[in-house]
Amino acid sequence: MANTSLIKLEHDTRIDAAAERLSMTRREFLQFCAALAATLGLPQGADAAVAEAVAAKKRPSVIWLHFQECTGCTESMLRAEHPTLEKLILDVISLDYHETLFAAAGHQVEAARLQAMKENKGKYVLVVEGAIPTKDNGVYCKIGGKTALDLVKECAADAAAVVAIGSCASWGGMPSTSPNPTGASGVAKVLGKPVVTIPGCPPNPYNFLSTVVHFLTFGKLPEIDQLGRPKFAYSRLIHENCERRAHFDAGRFALEFGDEGHRKGYCLYKLGCKGPETYANCSVIQFGDAGASTWPVACGHPCIGCTEQGVGFQKPIHTLAKLKNIEPNIQFPRINEEKGLGANLGSAAVLAAVAGAAAGGAAMAARNLGLSHQAEQMEEARKAGQQAKDSTEV
Ligand code: SF4
Ligand code: SF4
Repeated sequence: MANTSLIKLEHDTRIDAAAERLSMTRREFLQFCAALAATLGLPQGADAAVAEAVAAKKRPSVIWLHFQECTGCTESMLRAEHPTLEKLILDVISLDYHETLFAAAGHQVEAARLQAMKENKGKYVLVVEGAIPTKDNGVYCKIGGKTALDLVKECAADAAAVVAIGSCASWGGMPSTSPNPTGASGVAKVLGKPVVTIPGCPPNPYNFLSTVVHFLTFGKLPEIDQLGRPKFAYSRLIHENCERRAHFDAGRFALEFGDEGHRKGYCLYKLGCKGPETYANCSVIQFGDAGASTWPVACGHPCIGCTEQGVGFQKPIHTLAKLKNIEPNIQFPRINEEKGLGANLGSAAVLAAVAGAAAGGAAMAARNLGLSHQAEQMEEARKAGQQAKDSTEV
């Protein structure tokens, strides 16, 4: 069926101008807007609204603050693997204050911030990168003589929206790792009100761009979860869409880096993959391009749960993840179970559902996770043999 909304834009010269600005063809530009609309979960026809907004709407003023961080979030935005992404980000916003990117320094830069805040009072978007130290009145991070604590409150007061970019700004991230000597905290906690959070270390630039485009198109931020994360990007577990998931369900795991299971592409759960307790869309859009349309987990590195408060930088990397959702994704093909080796994750889930005891099912699933793995069976057999030998010797 023809997309009537897009047809209306056929002779719109603003679309051509935007495509030219971004060094894209008109077709590429419209395709990219359609992809953005799909990522945001918008209905059919919304791609035209997105294209029109990106091409023609006044770019929102953005004031971007840096606190306790490594600047990896900015690096992630600007060195995006897809060459057009950083261009688009800089095209859809008017970046009026950004310490890392400004050529100016000192008082000039401070004046630019105050001017941008005055000119765009009530309309600018405040983006915060980095955690905010709260101990000892915030003395551990100062810019232009002001603490991060004071600066964020001052800049948030007249902002139309506040976005915490990266895990540090979202909930403390790396600087808040125990014992958290500076009292590093996230923006929402410091401001005492919900903000949009885009956690990740680094965060996915596509999620930031989609959030801004939503703001640009509809004049409001996208729907968020209880942690402030846009639902379009953070409502699914990594584990639900991971290509290794079939191995997880069948109980086939890598036990060591470089072992046979690892080389065969088995599930990385037993190497500490936190995909089962981490909400993010990395597995869907293959964030962290490792080349040739792949992503780090596909390449053999477990997810460390960087988007999840209490997981990334808190749980040791090789600790097993908590299983939050034990039901296999229905999109996956049926799994060939190995015979006679106990319940697998899927059957445990079904049993749990029938018995109405999901917690018990999860425990059973966890207990049975490794039973089908040959190496573990051999280990069990070895232990049993040893015990038998010990008892005969006694
Ligand atoms: S545990 Fe990790 S590697 Fe295994 S299926 Fe889940 S997300 Fe993929
Ligand atoms: S896969 Fe895991 S560790 Fe990697 S970016 Fe996504 S949430 Fe973070």
